[in-house]
Amino acid sequence: MTRAISLHDVSKVHAKGVRAVDRLSLDIAPGEFLVLLGPSGCGKSTVLRMIAGLEHITEGELLLDGAYANDLPPSQRDIAMVFQNFALYPNMTGRDNIGFPLRIEDPGSDPAPRVDATARMLGIEELLDRYPGQLSGGERQRVAMGRAIARHPSAFLMDEPLSNLDAKLRNRLRAEISRLTRSLGVTTVYVTHDQAEAMSLGDRVAVLRGGVLQQVDSPRAVYALPRNVFVAAFIGTPRINLLRGVIRAPLDGAMTISLGKQALRLPEPLSLDHRLLRVQQGREVIVGLRSEAVRIATPAEARPEETHITGLVEHVEFQGHEVLVHFNTGSVPAVVPELEAPRPAPRPTRRHREGGFLDRLRERAGSRRAGPAVAEASNGPQPMPEPQDTSPDGRIPGDLVVRTTPDFVLRYGMQVPLLVDTAHLYVFDQHGDRVSPAPARLPDLEEWEV
Ligand code: ADP
Ligand code: MG
Repeated sequence: MTRAISLHDVSKVHAKGVRAVDRLSLDIAPGEFLVLLGPSGCGKSTVLRMIAGLEHITEGELLLDGAYANDLPPSQRDIAMVFQNFALYPNMTGRDNIGFPLRIEDPGSDPAPRVDATARMLGIEELLDRYPGQLSGGERQRVAMGRAIARHPSAFLMDEPLSNLDAKLRNRLRAEISRLTRSLGVTTVYVTHDQAEAMSLGDRVAVLRGGVLQQVDSPRAVYALPRNVFVAAFIGTPRINLLRGVIRAPLDGAMTISLGKQALRLPEPLSLDHRLLRVQQGREVIVGLRSEAVRIATPAEARPEETHITGLVEHVEFQGHEVLVHFNTGSVPAVVPELEAPRPAPRPTRRHREGGFLDRLRERAGSRRAGPAVAEASNGPQPMPEPQDTSPDGRIPGDLVVRTTPDFVLRYGMQVPLLVDTAHLYVFDQHGDRVSPAPARLPDLEEWEV
């Protein structure tokens, strides 16, 4: 049996008034895999512990299969929990660790058949007679998982079960968890601070910030239609580019979004989403550009929905299959305080200009029309980008990160033409709420001229 879990306006207030969870409402369907995602301290574990009955609910209601369950003892909830630190009894073998909860639940029964079946499912038969001290981290986590599964619970709660493992093992176990929970069809609530893990595992992802639910949607929807700037910034790598802008919508002339030194010209005829931006005229907004919404190419190559700006190369991150180029476009990055972990990297900026990039493009344009007008695609061995630089506060000075293929040779200080796909830009208002694409697709929007 698998169960529905509902939280209605659930809050947790700790001693001294710390509000760890604030009026959280969530309906988790039977058999669903829901991921609770958010930065450290946002209340994820608290939510899980309230569902498990390990933490008292201060306000609101918890319903299990529609029945009020706030006061139900943990042992009667039929829910199994897996923790980050593989909590196993050190003085018991794997077999006894898995069998122990079964013996507690039903002292008269022989746990062996269920333990063996579970071990086969997890491929851990050969680990059953070892003690936790004789197991690697990944093996211990498999045994811990076995202990949860063997009980045939009606729901699993998993609190960052993979975060103590190395990256390779994490990926493998992630795939195993996905396969296993789906084949068992058991409702699962999985907590993580890792957005990539959330996106790859969840049927839906619930994003929490400071104890408050920001959005709950399919991984596709939280990525494509983030409700606010926090969700946009938290989901996706490289992080979405967030730039401060001002909407300029003159009565005569093209509508633009000013980004400080440059402006994004919105192509005519204006799309529905862009028409709706008129109401923001003169207001400060935050423009969100995912790295795939910008490409290195000349204005001549622009598609109708693309608009042209230029960027100065500040930093090149070589990643093998792709390259992340940090540009300075003269705009001001918008800051999402909770997410300002220092970006990875580097050392002081070397700026040398090596002949204007556009100059060389012009030279090339004379000799060869059309072609990939972008940087020099070299056929020989790729020069490795040199060690990078940062400003004194440790941040890379670029304001726009663009993803490109490794066959562009870009050097620091080059001035590069960029095309921005205006059909894939996000605009957030001063409160950080998304205003474009429009928050909801109303059926009569076509007639709604603004
Ligand atoms: P997460 O799992 O998302 O990292 P937690 O649910 O563990 O976050 O904690 C949420 C918030 O509640 C944090 O700010 C934490 O410091 C606070 N908190 C957790 N337990 C207690 C407690 N017993 N007393 C006071 N504050 C607590
Ligand atoms: Mg936690």
